Amino acid sequence: MSSALLNSKDIKAQASRLGFVGCGLSRAEPVAEPFASHYRRWLELGYCADMDYMRRNIEMRLQPDLLVPGVRTIVSLAMNFMPKNRQPAISLYAQGQDYHDVMKQRMRQLMEDTQLEGRCFVDTAPVLERYWAWKSGIGIITSNGGFISVPGYGPTVFLGELFLTAEADHYDTPLAPPPLEGAGERLFCPALTPEGLDTRRCISYLTIEHRGSLPDGIRLGSTFYGCDRCLRATPQFAEAKPTTEPAFQPSEALLQMTPDDWQSLTEEQYRALFKGSAVKRAKYDGLKRNIERWLEQ
Ligand code: SF4
Repeated sequence: MSSALLNSKDIKAQASRLGFVGCGLSRAEPVAEPFASHYRRWLELGYCADMDYMRRNIEMRLQPDLLVPGVRTIVSLAMNFMPKNRQPAISLYAQGQDYHDVMKQRMRQLMEDTQLEGRCFVDTAPVLERYWAWKSGIGIITSNGGFISVPGYGPTVFLGELFLTAEADHYDTPLAPPPLEGAGERLFCPALTPEGLDTRRCISYLTIEHRGSLPDGIRLGSTFYGCDRCLRATPQFAEAKPTTEPAFQPSEALLQMTPDDWQSLTEEQYRALFKGSAVKRAKYDGLKRNIERWLEQ
């Protein structure tokens, strides 16, 4: 580990040049209350559905140095994903290239440019990313849906974290206290409960992560991959503006897809249409299952 302090201004300036719309630094301390107990309670309630990886490594999720020994600083980063145009059947975040790849490549570039030592994570490790984004002051937690909303960009952001072994010359503070538990949830969706998101009832989870048939009675709304209703319902969604990042724009072929095209989608077309896209997570069979339910409505 280098003994030199990280220069937070340099890191933020370079992050901005690389297209991140939020960058903040936190000390890598254990996750504070009430976040830690809220997370444990959420698991106890079974709200993580069959995402078993959420139940694994609980302590690691709550104590960063169990994930990366020697970590001193966590840098939270946000990229705006709001596309200029969109294919209406697909959730906003999945219109372009897979954010895991885009974010990681950009975060590695940031580490290289500013000579940082550590690891980078994008949604694939036991990290409470919204907590760290809140703690490092890059956005507020919305009372509706618990999104991170970045001032000037709203809640349409991807999050990532650098876990660094050096101390920084300055640490950020939250922009606002977290909302009181459940205080602002608008219970227009049965998956939104005062104790957090009940993933088992969430269309986004069901159409992306869930394997097997969709539960009876689930109505998909306008999208068959993901669901943007609670995102759009946050007052901060009004701040969302199109990203300048070309990787998050949909292809012409995706924009031109019609309900008839979706109905007849072959596996070959699916592969071509979603090459390098996060939509592949649902697999061809999962997508066909979703399309069938969506067209029945
Ligand atoms: S993504 Fe859709 S189904 Fe899930 S909580 Fe939000 S509004 Fe409800």
